[in-house]
Amino acid sequence: MDSSKLFSTTNASRESHKVSGKAAISLEEWRGWGTTSTVPAIVTQVVHDLNLLEKDVDADMVFGGNHGKLSGDFKVQEDKKHRAKYQSLGDSQQKLQFFSARQIACRVLGSRGYLCQKCWLPADDCMCSKLITCPLWNRIRFWLYMHPKDFLRQNNTGKLLWQVFGVQAATLCLYGIAEHEEMMWDALKLAGKDKVWCLYPNKNAAANSVKDSMAELSFAHVEEHPEMTDGAHSLNFILIDGTWSNSGAMFSRLKERYKLMWGEEEIPCIMLNTGASLMHKLRPQPSWDRTCTAAAAIGLLDELHGLPNFVSYGLDKQAEALEDAVEVLLEALTARRLRMGRSITRKQRHNRDIL
Ligand SMILES: [Zn+2]
Repeated sequence: MDSSKLFSTTNASRESHKVSGKAAISLEEWRGWGTTSTVPAIVTQVVHDLNLLEKDVDADMVFGGNHGKLSGDFKVQEDKKHRAKYQSLGDSQQKLQFFSARQIACRVLGSRGYLCQKCWLPADDCMCSKLITCPLWNRIRFWLYMHPKDFLRQNNTGKLLWQVFGVQAATLCLYGIAEHEEMMWDALKLAGKDKVWCLYPNKNAAANSVKDSMAELSFAHVEEHPEMTDGAHSLNFILIDGTWSNSGAMFSRLKERYKLMWGEEEIPCIMLNTGASLMHKLRPQPSWDRTCTAAAAIGLLDELHGLPNFVSYGLDKQAEALEDAVEVLLEALTARRLRMGRSITRKQRHNRDIL
């Protein structure tokens, strides 16, 4: 490794680091980040291609921009190559899958050894020891339908769901990754179309309230058979975990697949009463997006708890556990900003009593 070269290639980033010859992503590493699938074949392919390119171009693979993006000379070379590859792909499906795989491969390689795999925070700011887990009622399953650009982002709140409830109760599904999308749709198919809802905080989408969607459901049958804990009896809630501008395309993809599977034009959507105000409260950072995923889950659990048919499952406590986790994350992010000497904007919103 040539250290003079390292410093000549870091102008694009504050926090570059260099590791040459990236090892393939093992199943253990892949699952360590919170996913439950096998290593996606196309992600493995992208890592392989990046390594080949590094040998070809005589520039080291360097990551900057919070370690998730390529930087320096290698980035220039890789940009040309991935743009050509993207152009050569025949259809939009292949283009999306390649885009997602490249994003994810870069994020995993760049974050290796830098982020805590569980909480996605830099090791110095790891919040894992402060987090309290809580079992989710076993008839509810959350799906975090996450945009690749939000994968391994420290201020992502979707990851809190599986940190608190576990990966079987709150499962990551990466947008455009076949292994993840197949796994989710297989489980949804098993559950049936009347047990699938999407939480999409878009006023333009047709959506029902929690009460209208859920007040008639009865669990008497499944409660008599506690052995029926398989996915067929779960209520499945898909949470779109992406920026506002990306969420439209993500929702369209869900709708398309739902239609393909069940022949229905619309995927049932739920609109939360408390959604707007709760999300507003939970947006303490300039970078916090409008669609705060944990807030949506908290709002849903709280509203469900308010219905007579859901009142006895401890959903209020489960919502509280998630709120506590959001607080822990906010404190960790605040401590990090202070440690890095950055300003704390909207500081007053970190106070506990806002929640
Ligand atoms: Zn951690």
